[in-house]
Amino acid sequence: MKLATFSPLPSGNPRPGLVLDGKRLVDIPAALGAGDDTNTMLGIIRAGSKMLDRLRDLEKKAPSPISLADVKLHAPIPRPSKNVFCVGWNYLEHFDEGAKKLQDNRELPKYPVFFSKAVTAVTGPFDNVPFDASISTSLDWEVELGLVLGTGGKNISEADAMKHVFGYTVINDVSWRDLQRRHGGQWHKGKSLDGTCPMGPWIVTADAIDPNDLRVTCRVNGVTKQDSSTRFLYFKLPRLVAELSLGMTIEPGDIISTGTPEGVGFARTPPEFMKPGDLLETEIQDIGVMRNPIG
Ligand code: MG
Repeated sequence: MKLATFSPLPSGNPRPGLVLDGKRLVDIPAALGAGDDTNTMLGIIRAGSKMLDRLRDLEKKAPSPISLADVKLHAPIPRPSKNVFCVGWNYLEHFDEGAKKLQDNRELPKYPVFFSKAVTAVTGPFDNVPFDASISTSLDWEVELGLVLGTGGKNISEADAMKHVFGYTVINDVSWRDLQRRHGGQWHKGKSLDGTCPMGPWIVTADAIDPNDLRVTCRVNGVTKQDSSTRFLYFKLPRLVAELSLGMTIEPGDIISTGTPEGVGFARTPPEFMKPGDLLETEIQDIGVMRNPIG
């Protein structure tokens, strides 16, 4: 199933929707009754497997579908309950391009490098990414597979990790590179400015997709900049969940952005950055595509 957060146009409160065929959706609280478990995507995720059964039933009946042309899509979880967890250096060729550009002799990591993006960075799949030249001009792209946790836990084993996954979405870990470098050996600030976490266009539930070999692509103004596959992830998804949950409670609705492949702007010769008027397209096979104008 594909689950989105949408609001009816021209105005309406955001609410979860069940996407039927990529063209229409069903208003979930209208169809199942409004409540804590249906009013938000976090409510749906927290409600667990019984809610998924109800949604599968709803998908068959598909009452009163609404055209996607008549709604605004938001990030599927517009306001996560905590920062978006991110993984640095998780495709070898991206690791190599960064090491080459920054002229250091770093060794391959033995453990995933985690950092986070502020919840206020999250934005919708078709929203503008703000650009303020007085703050920075080195705006870069990073297509990433987003993993959404369904059930929480601590010290989750790799063997059990995938049972904790609710689904997958598309994320662009948009990065202001000079801010990223300015703040030392951590990346939080340069990756947390408003609008730097486009997410969407929906969550595909874990039962509906094999995440292990999905094409991941990023285009700027129609020109392909990144084109890889999740099969090249260096730390696989079970390892990421196990490592993140080691001694640290993870919760339903937590999000892990799993790292970006090679082809980012700063590592190019000469470096390339986005500017106002550009169109950033971020796509993952079998999930969907986001289109975010810059500026
Ligand atoms: Mg990244």
